Amino acid sequence: MKKHDSHFLKRRETSRGDLGVFATRPIRRGTFLASFNGPIFEWTTVRDSIPNEGPYYHRDHAIQFGEFKARDSVGLARYFNHSCSPNAGIRNLFDIHAMRDIKVGEELCWDYAMTEDTFWSMKCQCGSPDCRKLIAGYRFLPPARRWAYKGFISEWLLDPHRPFVGHAVDAFERFRYPIPPLGPFRMIGEREALAG
Ligand SMILES: [Zn+2]
Repeated sequence: MKKHDSHFLKRRETSRGDLGVFATRPIRRGTFLASFNGPIFEWTTVRDSIPNEGPYYHRDHAIQFGEFKARDSVGLARYFNHSCSPNAGIRNLFDIHAMRDIKVGEELCWDYAMTEDTFWSMKCQCGSPDCRKLIAGYRFLPPARRWAYKGFISEWLLDPHRPFVGHAVDAFERFRYPIPPLGPFRMIGEREALAG
């Protein structure tokens, strides 16, 4: 994990009205962009133990890096938005790297399914031709996307000994974000995913 975020980034309002992170110079594939270098949160069964009040809305900005662990950033990492056609991805649990060459002015995004795997879900309007419309944890990520993101998926999701079913589920999360209906998604077994 590096101490400082890249100097080639700028946080500003997007055309959608939220905040995003944009490239101020051309960036090469593989370049380090920003780190989740802030407070760490752990929970056991109550997902809501990640505070989401006050100036730091940790729950919506932290990334998951273990079955019951998440981390926020004190820098730009927390402002990167999701895209279903991302130009960035995750390395070493906490670092965002460019997944392809990036032009000046492009918004930098990763796919939140590269790090998350609770039964969290979110409607997506990223506008990409590959948009999955409803995004959810890694277990719902189609095999073709897993391939496309090779090398940029958070390590904790690739651990072959990782418990698979239900460990990250808690009542609060299920209540707020119901499990996505089957349709574009199907459950993918860990064995199948690793064999792919
Ligand atoms: Zn999308």
